[in-house]
Amino acid sequence: MDEMPCVSVKGDGPNGRKIDGFLYKYRKGEEVRIVCVCHGSFLTPAEFVKHAGGGNVTHPLKHIVVNPSASVYF
Ligand SMILES: [Zn+2]
Repeated sequence: MDEMPCVSVKGDGPNGRKIDGFLYKYRKGEEVRIVCVCHGSFLTPAEFVKHAGGGNVTHPLKHIVVNPSASVYF
């Protein structure tokens, strides 16, 4: 089974909102993707921050809060 930690981001732009999602880890060396719970879309960390109304950020992962205790397993 794969562990998918729960993540959330709060956009800091004028239309910022809180979005929840799950961290989807590809195999080692591949890019991390986040599935948003509202659409079920696969997003890059930068897209996930934008989805929450945040702007272009240099380090999107720093804006994303990981909550391992809320992990789900598939
Ligand atoms: Zn969404």
